[in-house]
Amino acid sequence: MSGASAQLIGILQDVLSGIQTPVPLHEPYFNGNEWAYVKECIDTRWVSSVGSYVDLFEEKLAEHCGVKHAVVTVNGTQALYVACLLAGVEPDDEVLMPSLTFIATANAVSYCGAAPHFVEADEATLGIDIPKLDVYLTSITERRDDGLYNTNTGNRIAAIIPVHVFGHMCDMDALTALADKYYLPIIEDAAEALGSTYKNRPAGSFGQCGALSFNGNKIVTTGGGGAIVTNDAELAKRAKHITTTAKQPHKWAFIHDEIGFNFRMPNINAALGCAQLEQLDGFVKAKRDLAARYKKAFAGSDFEFFIEPEHVHSNYWLNLIKLGDSADRDAMLDALHGAGYLCRPVWQSMHTLPMYKDCPRMDLSVTEDLEQRIINIPSSVTLGL
Ligand SMILES: *Cc1c(COP(=O)(O)O)cnc(C)c1O
Repeated sequence: MSGASAQLIGILQDVLSGIQTPVPLHEPYFNGNEWAYVKECIDTRWVSSVGSYVDLFEEKLAEHCGVKHAVVTVNGTQALYVACLLAGVEPDDEVLMPSLTFIATANAVSYCGAAPHFVEADEATLGIDIPKLDVYLTSITERRDDGLYNTNTGNRIAAIIPVHVFGHMCDMDALTALADKYYLPIIEDAAEALGSTYKNRPAGSFGQCGALSFNGNKIVTTGGGGAIVTNDAELAKRAKHITTTAKQPHKWAFIHDEIGFNFRMPNINAALGCAQLEQLDGFVKAKRDLAARYKKAFAGSDFEFFIEPEHVHSNYWLNLIKLGDSADRDAMLDALHGAGYLCRPVWQSMHTLPMYKDCPRMDLSVTEDLEQRIINIPSSVTLGL
């Protein structure tokens, strides 16, 4: 084992002393009303696609995200997809997004028949490098009557999707200014950032729509699930309609007025979500406490522990370190797994995947560098309690 691996394992052993190995990267934590609410669904037989927990979860989510409306869905990927449709993304359009993201962001755009257009990451936020993107857009776009066009491909650029990577938010003032300058609607991929704020404003509240995820590994889980959050009443109404088979309300008739989706979140999942959401503030506090311990332990080491960007109060969903330039990432991950710490690398960047390798993109050298150097370290809520 290399000296660097031994040092890293030593730091994790120190911070996580007393925790039994193997230590997963992130596991859910159920310590509130989960059992009571789920049991109530079963006892009352309201387990499926309608029920009071769906309405309650939507109401509470909107509150937490500082928006007027939330529409829950079967998962975060479909929430993003519907948000893209609502933003008017059409076949052959391009949508700006970082290459440093989870596959769902790119797939959601593809489902619309559009292409992801990959943009560079910023070392300090892990989100979009906004000044570089501004220079790039100035050089490759032109404004026409019906929108912004990529002069290289001839296609319309329909929207921008900032991603709050590992819960750390982008510089939303700069991003909003850039989106305004180019007349682009913002769809926030806030799947990892529930509970994070930028200048005291919650993740998900900046875009035309935001998308959340409640997959089992997220800070709040419903087993599987997602949500679209927005301040726009019309968009919320439309999101609800097309995610629930486009059925018109009626006592007994089946009247569907367009081709809708069945993207509903079942009541039993929403019940779990309501119980989890009641604990969100405590979860964020536990995660921030764990991050503070990591920060101290990594000070003066060969590893850079990633700290929340300026103006951001992060949920620290997944903690991460950056390895030095010469580090052998995969050998280090092997050693970590051997020692019982189930760490993971950051995602393979989107523009290197076979189905996305020919998509339009700007220079992505920072993304490619970060991809080799980021390792996520254990981050479950329980570790911070
Ligand atoms: C989890 C996640 C999603 C949505 O994932 P689902 O598993 O479909 O709920 C989207 N974007 C990012 C960045 C994510 O981490």
